[in-house]
Amino acid sequence: MSGDAIRIEALRKTYAGGKEALKGVDLTVPTGSIFGLLGPNGAGKSTLINILAGLVLKSSGKVSIWGWDQDRNPRQSRASIGVMPQELNLDPFFTPRDALEVQAGLYGVAKRDRRSDEILEMVGLTDKAEAYARTLSGGMRRRLLLGKALVHHPRILVLDEPTAGVDIELRQMLWQNVRRLNRERGMTIILTTHYLEEAEEMCDEIAIINQGSVVARDSTANLLGQIDAKTMVIQPDSMPETLPEAPGITAERREGGLIALSYRATDTTAEDVLELVRNAGIRIQDVRTEQADLEDVFLELTRSRPAA
Ligand code: ADP
Ligand code: MG
Repeated sequence: MSGDAIRIEALRKTYAGGKEALKGVDLTVPTGSIFGLLGPNGAGKSTLINILAGLVLKSSGKVSIWGWDQDRNPRQSRASIGVMPQELNLDPFFTPRDALEVQAGLYGVAKRDRRSDEILEMVGLTDKAEAYARTLSGGMRRRLLLGKALVHHPRILVLDEPTAGVDIELRQMLWQNVRRLNRERGMTIILTTHYLEEAEEMCDEIAIINQGSVVARDSTANLLGQIDAKTMVIQPDSMPETLPEAPGITAERREGGLIALSYRATDTTAEDVLELVRNAGIRIQDVRTEQADLEDVFLELTRSRPAA
């Protein structure tokens, strides 16, 4: 399928009790991409994902998954997507192999089309295949949840905070698997995370959601390019009494006898900044620059704004 793996239009969710978790979300996810859904806690990420998964009922709006309208073709749209939920909800008395077989049964995967061994191998649980889920570590449970999301060979894989609180080894294993599924099987991947560097490294495109609304959606490179704030940090020979100032350049003291000079790369060059410093009679012992990163974009876009 070309075009969009997911199309969401005017999606709203108000929970019983009145909490408006999604306030009219429009979003498309291109087929074959690794798409990041970012936002602070309580932004509505899991609500959105659980609606895609068919675990939460939307209040209004349109969702289509792999071209299937969720309301008109619920079976096909469900079959097109596999979701690894945020919560570690597993039946404690199932073994990993049972859990995969039961899940495959739920999705109507014929016995001959099941790939339990292959999936166990892929998520590194072959030697735990017959252990009760309650004896599995948190990391192993997470890997089993990834396996469960894959039993019906979905076109789209959704991971809700897959690396929250997991160790580095498991993180790397998860990302390796995700990249492989994307590259070798063309699987479209949607993930939520609040590790920005992870999104920066993994995702082709990113949407930032805050208080139930999408506040930005662009390629990762464009989002990063949106912010051209730069900072030059210098270590002076000795701290001057007054800091140098110029239009477009602001200076402030930093711990450790450093001076941080902030400027916008579009209208000021590093040379301008250095000249300002030299003209102020400051001798530079050391200098480095700081680039804006996704964190800056994120903070700028999710800073509390008046309710719409
Ligand atoms: P995120 O995953 O971005 O942290 P969630 O989608 O879990 O955000 O939550 C969005 C908002 O909806 C939060 O204010 C949360 O408290 C609320 N919420 C989530 N689930 C429920 C629920 N089952 N009932 C009522 N409110 C909920
Ligand atoms: Mg969540």
